[in-house]
Amino acid sequence: MKEENCIFCKIANGEIPSKTIYEDDTFRVILDLGPATRGHALILPKEHYANLYELPEDTAGAAMKLAKKMAERMRDALGCQGLNLVQNNGDLAGQTVFHFHMHIIPRYSADGQKIGWKPGAVTQEELEEIKNSIVG
Ligand code: AMP
Ligand code: ZN
Repeated sequence: MKEENCIFCKIANGEIPSKTIYEDDTFRVILDLGPATRGHALILPKEHYANLYELPEDTAGAAMKLAKKMAERMRDALGCQGLNLVQNNGDLAGQTVFHFHMHIIPRYSADGQKIGWKPGAVTQEELEEIKNSIVG
């Protein structure tokens, strides 16, 4: 399924040109137009899935396999010293394009980026309650 007004559907299926660094029947990998660092890339499935919840399990597995392949290629080609995989779901989580995508962000010393969170605090009781609510 493609979605009519989805820019990533159009990019993934070649209707809008992009700097493509990998393509197969299921995915296209493109360079991000607003890169966090040199070589910032996006894995796009060719089918439209809004987010991780909609993504079929086998496509999710294939996306992670591809992320590993691309990470190795990019490390060798770009000489990055680290790499972040980032995948946002929902506007609250920072998703701005509602077609599943995985960011591959090569990291360099002094690249000026910070990807992370402020560590919080939690009690053992809270951890137990959270664990039980997830595990059931
Ligand atoms: P997210 O915030 O996780 O939804 O990420 C969306 C990403 O898509 C951002 O990093 C944007 O810079 C990138 N982006 C948006 N439009 C385009 C485009 N036409 N071509 C390449 N990257 C894009
Ligand atoms: Zn789409």
